[in-house]
Amino acid sequence: MTRIVHACAYMADLEVEKVRTDAVQAFLKQETIFVELGTSDGLTGVGYTYTIGTGGSSVLALLRDHLLPRLAGRDARSVEALWHDLFAATRATTVGAITSLALAAVDTALWDLRCLRAGEPLWRLAGGFRDRVPLYDTEGGWLHLTTDELVAGALAAQAAGWPGVKLKVGKPRLAEDVERLDAVRSAVGPGMDLMVDANQSMTRAEARRRAAAFEPFGLAWLEEPLPADDPQGHAFLARSTSVPVAVGESLYSLGQFRAYLTQDAASVVQADAARVGGITPWLKVAHLADAFGSDVCPHFLMELHVSLAAAIPNGRYVEHIPQLRAITRGELEIVEGHAVPPETPGLGIDWDRDAIDDRRVA
Ligand SMILES: [Mg+2]
Repeated sequence: MTRIVHACAYMADLEVEKVRTDAVQAFLKQETIFVELGTSDGLTGVGYTYTIGTGGSSVLALLRDHLLPRLAGRDARSVEALWHDLFAATRATTVGAITSLALAAVDTALWDLRCLRAGEPLWRLAGGFRDRVPLYDTEGGWLHLTTDELVAGALAAQAAGWPGVKLKVGKPRLAEDVERLDAVRSAVGPGMDLMVDANQSMTRAEARRRAAAFEPFGLAWLEEPLPADDPQGHAFLARSTSVPVAVGESLYSLGQFRAYLTQDAASVVQADAARVGGITPWLKVAHLADAFGSDVCPHFLMELHVSLAAAIPNGRYVEHIPQLRAITRGELEIVEGHAVPPETPGLGIDWDRDAIDDRRVA
């Protein structure tokens, strides 16, 4: 028995490392909510979750008022049981974004403990499939950047050996999207993966129209073309275009992914371990996607997702958006355009406690 004898949660605000905009929003700041769990055998696990600017205080309150008190004295090894007990305890607010984000902070702390106790890195304990994962860059593709800036970013990524870059789409006029895509494709040639991301900004008709116009550019995927609560619309779109459809960053449960996969509405699954409720449900989504022949290219959180994408057979890409540098020591290791999962036991994120304390807001 290894009992949970200490549990606390706190929040730090991180400035964005650069201006990030898409068709519907801007990334204002990263509200980072931490959970710390201490056990009777002397280990401390640290988990985390995040928002891009709103709702963090609600996540923190749910953790402090309702979830963490239920962990006292429980066996930290019973990760599934604890996840399900906490989920059941929040039945009236579940499935919901706040609850899933809060569950993720607890679940990642439990996985940190599990890996620390085993003396293994996350990527091995979660499955152990590959020791490096292709990386694509999003940081050079934001919607406010000029065409020249997009081209420069893509060429820099290509020169560094990265296999893919993603551009935001959803400019007011289709012709602008096409002009930007054309410039980047012309610059990098046919050998690089290009992805586009609409951030749920289109109607069904507009998505069909734009997907058709994008087809000549040989895209790796079209991401979140429609509102995330419309799997049927995504299924219609997927049947009408040769561009693979990607979804997942705005889904908050295994069941929501099931709705997409059973309708052939997503061939690229972008599960986010924070938004789906932690590593425990993330792995279920990844294996479900495998059963449907879909790749997993997780959304954001590259410092955590590098280990998860390396754990599974269908982990195809890690998304490059650095955001934790101010509060961690070291950086994501990148070798020849591939992200390398940490070999250190635990989640493999070397938190800088002083830097976190400096940014604490609650
Ligand atoms: Mg996206």
